[in-house]
Amino acid sequence: MSFKNLGIIPEILKAVEHEGYDTPSPIQEQAIPVLLQQKDVLASAQTGTGKTAAFSIPIIQGLYQDQLPYEKKHIRALILAPTRELAEQIKDSFRGYSRHMGLRTEVIYGGVSQRSQEIALKKGVDILVATPGRLLDLINQGLVKLQFVKYLVLDEADHMLDMGFIKDVRKIVSYVKDMHQTMMFSATLPHEILSFANELLINPVRIEI
Ligand code: AMP
Repeated sequence: MSFKNLGIIPEILKAVEHEGYDTPSPIQEQAIPVLLQQKDVLASAQTGTGKTAAFSIPIIQGLYQDQLPYEKKHIRALILAPTRELAEQIKDSFRGYSRHMGLRTEVIYGGVSQRSQEIALKKGVDILVATPGRLLDLINQGLVKLQFVKYLVLDEADHMLDMGFIKDVRKIVSYVKDMHQTMMFSATLPHEILSFANELLINPVRIEI
């Protein structure tokens, strides 16, 4: 199996090659074709399996194909993650896989000054990676609007639950109106995660790695 056989466009294939990847990992092999068909996904996969590329490549492809030239940028993909380290890594992945494609990825998280995040947001963002607490603060201040979000990812959903973020996540999700596709990644699938997935996902494809 090669990345080419998964239905990925040449622009992204070039970036994947640049990263030095030869073959897709099992989660990439299973998730990318399903996500390119716009289906919701519930995946149990640990960090280190290549799950970030599994969700970021199909999102980049969808956004790139929907892009209108010269249109003002709106947040069209939102990725929620429990920690700033993970959020930073996800941001780096999106930037890496979308190099030279004209898509802007930014990251916001708590524990640091809000100022530079505000400036980045004002420039216009296609893909926003965020931890829930700071994102909710910025939404409440009117600095982030989510009405154009089409792709939503909850990454390490079980950790967000353990860290007490689920209430914030629910609130954030309530601001997203016209969802296109939702994906949930979690190392474990405890009862609360499964019932949240039931609320949020529409006929999800289940992937277990
Ligand atoms: P993740 O599970 O998304 O945190 O990815 C774990 C690591 O694997 C990251 O450093 C990626 O750059 C790397 N990686 C992801 N996909 C592949 C692949 N298909 N081949 C080789 N390395 C990969």
